[in-house]
Amino acid sequence: MALIVQKYGGTSVADIEKIKAVARRVIGTYRQGNQMVVVLSAMAGQTDRLIQLAHELCKEPDPRELDVLMATGEQVSVALFAMAVKSMGYDARSLLGFQVVIHTDALYGKARIHGVDTARVQQELDKGRIVAVAGFQGLDENGNITTLGRGGSDTTAVALAAALKADVCEIFTDVDGVYTTDPNICPKAKKLESISYEEMLEMASLGAKVLEIRSVELASKYHVPIHVRSTFTNEKGTMVMAETKDMEKIVVSGVTYNKNDARITIKGVPDRPGIASQIFQPVLEAGIIVDMIIQNPSENDRTDLTFTVPKPDFHRTMKLVRDVAEQIGAERVMGDENIAKVSIVGLGMRSHAGVAQKMFDALAKENINIIMISTSEIKISCIIEEKYTELAVRTLHTSFGLDSDPKPSD
Ligand code: ASP
Ligand code: MG
Repeated sequence: MALIVQKYGGTSVADIEKIKAVARRVIGTYRQGNQMVVVLSAMAGQTDRLIQLAHELCKEPDPRELDVLMATGEQVSVALFAMAVKSMGYDARSLLGFQVVIHTDALYGKARIHGVDTARVQQELDKGRIVAVAGFQGLDENGNITTLGRGGSDTTAVALAAALKADVCEIFTDVDGVYTTDPNICPKAKKLESISYEEMLEMASLGAKVLEIRSVELASKYHVPIHVRSTFTNEKGTMVMAETKDMEKIVVSGVTYNKNDARITIKGVPDRPGIASQIFQPVLEAGIIVDMIIQNPSENDRTDLTFTVPKPDFHRTMKLVRDVAEQIGAERVMGDENIAKVSIVGLGMRSHAGVAQKMFDALAKENINIIMISTSEIKISCIIEEKYTELAVRTLHTSFGLDSDPKPSD
């Protein structure tokens, strides 16, 4: 007998028919002799609708009350699901975050899980029940309802799986696994059989949206294997798991991109100690997250500094930077919103040489100019002009041997 935690996202429980289908699926696995804990998201679109209602009422809704409101989405799903299971002749119990208890800090809207009590869930499992737990929500020290941030039900599922020492955590979603790249822009994208936590973290932070990033961090910390798979088929999906020996053989596992950042360059920055700190202090104070930073060695005691920030923060940052540039006597400030970041990710980069060169070569062959480069142990990112994003992704996908085999009919 295994203990299985399954999580179904909003599209999987979007209407009554789909909820019934999920109930049938869960019962099927239960009947094979497994104990089942099922974490559910709100029905598709519900969380957005609730947020919109709050904003119709006031511009800045009270954070505590907004969490109370948002948490109702998941309450609806677990109640309907438990009813569906019962109507099919099996026993189920729904539990909200505060009933489990899922303990969190008090940061409304982006609370972090501190601990999960297992006694109540275990009690229900011991009675042979299927347990449905509301995702995305918890309880802070003072007894207030909190939510974990958008997409947070994944994190609930992994936290429960870790606390209950479940055999596996299955994340059911509307895609059938983790792909080598976004199939929407690269038709030759391939489903991965497995991927390491570390690679998945890079892919998620670079824009792949299959799993919420905190859930991967948590899974990695507690060694919870995650099986990402489709609600609508029975096929195996992708295992997100601890690194194995074989994984290092693959140089590049995935190509990702994002168009979320903008670039800012300060020309002719006086080169003396303390300048970088002076430039970034106001940006930091404004809560703006700087991603890549590049500074060249100076010539005639002047240097250029380039960095990226999220697009929505671009104009705000430009203003702040123009002010400091004036104070420190820099020559000028330039910005560009039409950039994209393309990245390759793979554990094998640690042990293979020439990977960056191959990337630059592939981009050069398509006449794509590289504006900035950054690397980490298992990732190489290039900033390019936004309009070349799709072309860059496809050409990198082909160059690193990731294209799927042509189908027999092709
Ligand atoms: N319902 C929440 C959201 O839409 C949490 C989740 O779906 O994971 O973000
Ligand atoms: Mg999700």
